[in-house]
Parts: sequence; C-alpha cells; structure tokens
Amino acid sequence: MKNGLVLRAGALALTMGSFWFGISQQPALTVEKIADDLHVIVGSGGNVAVLTTDEGVILVDDKFEKDVPEILAKVKAITPKPVRYIINTHHHGDHTGGNQKMFDSTPGLEIVQHKNAREKMVEGKMPGIPRVTFGNETAIHLGGKEVRAYYFGRGHTNGDITVYFPAHRVMHLGDMFNTAGPYIDAKGGGSGVEWTKSIYNALKLDAETVIPGHGPISKKADLAAWNAKFETMRNRMRALKKQGKSKDDALAAIQLEDLGWAPTYLRQRTLPPLFDEL
Ligand SMILES: [Zn+2]
Repeated sequence: MKNGLVLRAGALALTMGSFWFGISQQPALTVEKIADDLHVIVGSGGNVAVLTTDEGVILVDDKFEKDVPEILAKVKAITPKPVRYIINTHHHGDHTGGNQKMFDSTPGLEIVQHKNAREKMVEGKMPGIPRVTFGNETAIHLGGKEVRAYYFGRGHTNGDITVYFPAHRVMHLGDMFNTAGPYIDAKGGGSGVEWTKSIYNALKLDAETVIPGHGPISKKADLAAWNAKFETMRNRMRALKKQGKSKDDALAAIQLEDLGWAPTYLRQRTLPPLFDEL
C-alpha cells in the first residue's frame, strides 16, 4: 500500500511537472507497440499515438516543442513515411507544444483539432495553431486506413476529443482520461459535471484498449472504473455542499484516500472548480 502511494506520487509529480515546466530533466521518450502499425510514444508531455500507413503517418498530439526531434526520430525508426496529419486531443501545451516545429519541419502537414480548442489556442496566443477544425465528428482516411475523432462534450477543457482507431478497437482520450486523476481546467472551459457524461459517450465506442493523456496504456474497463470513481468523488462533494459547508471546509472534509488519486492533486486541480460548479 505504501509502495503504491509512493508510485502514484511519483507519477503525479511527472504529470504535473511536465504540464507546468516541461523543461526539467525528463526521461527519454520510449515507444510502446499496440500493433505493427500503431505505437505510443510515452514520456515528457502527453502520450503520442503513431498510426503508420503506406501514404504517411497520423500522430495524435506532439508533446512539447523540445520533444519534436525525438518524436520524429522515433517515427523514423518505425517507418520511412512522413507525418501527414496530427490530431490534437485539446489545446494544452504538453499536447500541442510541438505543433509549430512540426509545421516548420514537415511540408504539407495538416494539424486538426476541435474548434473550441483552436479558440483557446488563439486566445492564449499559442504557437502552432491548426488550420483545420471540426465540431462533433471528423475522420481522416489515409493509405486505406481510417482514424475518427469525436467531440463528446466538456470535461478537462471544452475542446477535448476522443480519437478512435476502429480497425484496432483503440481510443485515445487525451486528458479526459489521466490515470493520475481528473484535472478540471475551468479557465479552459472544463466541467466536472459534464465530464462523466462525455466519458459515457466514449465508452459506447467499440474499443478494447484506451490510451490515456498521461499514464499507462489501459483497458476500457479501467476507463469505466475511473469514471465511476469520479462520480463517487462528485457525489461526496455535492453532499458536503448541500450540508452548507464552505469550499475550504468541504475540501478538508471530503474523503479521497480510497480513490487511488493523490489527494493533494485533487485538492489543487479538481475539487475547487468542482465545488464552484455544483
Ligand atoms: Zn491537458
């Protein structure tokens, strides 16, 4: 149990470290294979999915700017084909930070994201703003393969999407599924009330494997359990608010230890906006 807590704290430090600083000493990127043509580049920022086809590569997210050379080297070790498309799961810099450098180094590249995510990038004057956006659903067909992207509603931000690889029965949820626990970016349009409904929509997809924004490659059952824990946490917070507790008192009183997420992380990044929203 103690070891488990230490491990989780370590994972949390990595997640938060990569989000806030990104330039601290991170371990080198590593590649995990889901199928011959579908890999995940793990480490530094968000998990990057790599789908290879005869006509080029489709990436999901591109970590930080500093990671681009290593991402491209990892892709080159898998296939000689160029990157043709990048799908950003949402606007945060640990998932879109490589966009500009990717544009600069890859002729003809298109980057696609949800229209709300693009708005946030424009508002934040972030580099590497995509030219292509969508509303509820889109698909990329390349080299005889299909990748779909769905907007299932608000959660971590108001522009998170689920990327679906139907032939592999795999989905990439970005930070809608962070195994260290949910972070509600209220400024980014996030919602702790809508979030679990969005996950229920994602769970309807015919998928077996789930790539989280941060954390190990998981199963659909892990995502369902994660969502159930989120509901438990929200119900507890709602009950405390109904009792008339102030935000500080509710944050102090809420039971968190059984959820498997670091309480400090939840008290900083999840529970204050959740209390305000309830
Ligand atoms: Zn994020």
